[in-house]
Amino acid sequence: MKYRVNLQPSYHTLDVDENESILSAALREGIHLAYGCRSGTCGTCKSVLLEGKVAYPVEQALALTDEERQHGAALLCQAQPRSDLTIAAQVIPHDDVIVVKKLPCRVSQKQLVCHDVLRLLLKLPVMEKFSYRAGQYIDILLPDGRRRSFSLANAPFVNGSLELHVRHVEGGDFTGYVFKELEEKTILRVEGPHGQFFLREDSDRPIIFMAGGTGFAPIKSIIEFCIINDIQRPMYLYWGARAQQDLYMNDLAALWAKDFPHIHYIPVLSAPKPQDDKSIRTGLVHEAITKDFPDLSGYEVYASGPPMMVKAGKEAFARCHLPPEHYYSDAFEFQRPK
Ligand SMILES: Cc1cc2nc3c(=O)[nH]c(=O)nc-3n(C[C@H](O)[C@H](O)[C@H](O)COP(=O)(O)OP(=O)(O)OC[C@H]3O[C@@H](n4cnc5c(N)ncnc54)[C@H](O)[C@@H]3O)c2cc1C
Repeated sequence: MKYRVNLQPSYHTLDVDENESILSAALREGIHLAYGCRSGTCGTCKSVLLEGKVAYPVEQALALTDEERQHGAALLCQAQPRSDLTIAAQVIPHDDVIVVKKLPCRVSQKQLVCHDVLRLLLKLPVMEKFSYRAGQYIDILLPDGRRRSFSLANAPFVNGSLELHVRHVEGGDFTGYVFKELEEKTILRVEGPHGQFFLREDSDRPIIFMAGGTGFAPIKSIIEFCIINDIQRPMYLYWGARAQQDLYMNDLAALWAKDFPHIHYIPVLSAPKPQDDKSIRTGLVHEAITKDFPDLSGYEVYASGPPMMVKAGKEAFARCHLPPEHYYSDAFEFQRPK
């Protein structure tokens, strides 16, 4: 059964099947709504249900409190219609839209960059044009229909390949396969680009980047994009990791800071090892930022990595007067089991 969904204030309408999420239907129709993880946990697609009823196929761990539900909030990446609907949702203007494609890619390089992170280079088909914004991510489509998300770690057109930084998740199906079995020349199917974690170029605010672990990947892409395009806004990169060995591209980040006076690099270790360099800051990365910037009212913050870090940052930065609309984030949520 299909229901009619009206989006406000854009006046888009679409027909959505009762077994389909509103976000999937919108993307299928070329209507780009704000979204992030597509598993109901990051909350980026949270919108307001003005009229009608929705249902959620999986209720577990949704980024939606009972109070928010009572006030009409809905998570469009999960919500399925149970009546005709009117929804207040942010539609991204057509000019900003990049075509999402499904493509085969050949693994051209597999390189261990630290004890638990691999750098993969994926070669696109020669005749295929694949556009993305620095900071966006792709999904790897697994043969059994599941998908795994990974951020693109290089700026568009940097080396004709897509660069990924893959952290090994203990007991993880896909990352376990990548570490133990995946060989160069393997063909992977990918879909993308996805997500709204990219530089807001119409702003001249100074930028604070907060990366946690492989959350460095999309931020590397954005910083490379800024360097290539001579964007000289002041930038402060805080990279949080457990120990020094986890700062898998520390030399690159230090080189940016050495070569460009507007780029500053502050690594922060949460569980340093006895042998680690004592001059590196220790503690939680979001706390290092609030200590250095007690007033964030004039800044923009881009945060990517573990969901707990992204959430803690959002709350802490709000207390330091960061306007919520200037907090951009990609929480590395994992897929629910199917
Ligand atoms: C938008 C987005 C971008 C991402 N970008 C990157 C990236 O650039 N680099 C990267 O390394 N990861 C990234 N991730 C996270 C990555 O998608 C997951 O770590 C990956 O899907 C794990 O797949 P798996 O099959 O190995 O694990 P699964 O088999 O799916 O999971 C096995 C178990 O491990 C746990 N688990 C899974 N992933 C994580 C995790 N990340 N942290 C803690 N516990 C976990 C869960 O409990 C799960 O039950 C991103 C996620 C999102 C949503």
